[in-house]
Amino acid sequence: MPQYEFECLCCSYRFTVLTSWREREKVRCPRCKNGELKQVWSVFSARSKGSTGGGCRPAAKAG
Ligand SMILES: [Zn+2]
Repeated sequence: MPQYEFECLCCSYRFTVLTSWREREKVRCPRCKNGELKQVWSVFSARSKGSTGGGCRPAAKAG
């Protein structure tokens, strides 16, 4: 089952939920029970682990 990360729009609480794609609409904030959540796509977690040889580094231009 996929894992989704949400951020509550009410209290800014972040949490992850193991649920299906459809069931994710029923997810509520475990802290304040608010149903308005913003889904957080975990794009940031891939960045801070150090470079793994991407090779698409922009070339430094002199001048
Ligand atoms: Zn909340």
